Amino acid sequence: MRFDTLLMPSQVSASDKEFLIYRGDLECNIAPGNKQHKLKYHLQKALSESCQYVATFGGPHSNHIAAFVARCQVLEVMPLIVVRGETWAELTPTLRAAVAAGAILFPSSRQDYRLGLASEIKQTVDGYYSNVYWVPEGGAGSLGVLGCLDWARVISQDQQAEGAHFCVASGTGVTAAGFAASDIDSLSVFSALKGVSNLTEDIQLSCQQAGLQVTAKLSTFDECLHGGFGRMSKELLVFLKTLYRLNPGIELDPVYTSKMVYQVYQMEKKGLWPHKRTLFVHTGGLQGWLGMKKDQQPYGDPVRFSC
Ligand SMILES: *Cc1c(COP(=O)(O)O)cnc(C)c1O
Repeated sequence: MRFDTLLMPSQVSASDKEFLIYRGDLECNIAPGNKQHKLKYHLQKALSESCQYVATFGGPHSNHIAAFVARCQVLEVMPLIVVRGETWAELTPTLRAAVAAGAILFPSSRQDYRLGLASEIKQTVDGYYSNVYWVPEGGAGSLGVLGCLDWARVISQDQQAEGAHFCVASGTGVTAAGFAASDIDSLSVFSALKGVSNLTEDIQLSCQQAGLQVTAKLSTFDECLHGGFGRMSKELLVFLKTLYRLNPGIELDPVYTSKMVYQVYQMEKKGLWPHKRTLFVHTGGLQGWLGMKKDQQPYGDPVRFSC
């Protein structure tokens, strides 16, 4: 288990605050980060049902697809992927890697894609292949929560996490639900989406559906600083470069962990961050840099983040 100290730009002078980061990005070399934990029980179920094909949904740059394909390869099942968006002039790096690993891709209109397991494209795929196990987008659902609960327990039981206030980034809140139901005392969740007001309720509902309860003291924040999901701001780019200079070797992903750390930094600077010992959970996702423009790269050429 690797925990690093994360030095914040505001801490170059003496500070009574301690920031740590759990390096989920270094857990293994096949699809590190939260997605493999969300997938764990889904893929176990697919194997126990002897499904030869495992299908899922994802965006063209998604960390979920990258992890899904990598895990399918290890388990020797054939990945089928419904990709959001119908016209592709060129495959993204994420999709190219998926095809190279043997995945079969199905384009879908955004409208139909939104219907998920009720979509037409799902029916079409089921028409081509028999005995397909479907994993919801992002590895969501109760099985996703339970995988993240296991993950949260392993991290929180490590001595280095003792007494820490946990911070985790969220999209659907499934990962956060696993942490909220684990034995940690307090948790802040930072949404990568703008304007979410019901994140706390969503996390509670995800826990309930998995037969769990939120036991941690929970605070939630939305993405109010950079223009919304997947958007990079100049301020964030400058911050990431500075953070990397202070912490060589610690790189954050563009969509989730970077915005979480930035938001905590902003609060800390204003004296609004009360926690003495903070533990950020690095949920991986570095391959996401491959989907960002050339002038939005704080860590240079992102080619090393390829899957
Ligand atoms: C998907 C993802 C998240 C969000 O996970 P949810 O369970 O949807 O909240 C956070 N960080 C990274 C790097 C991700 O890829």
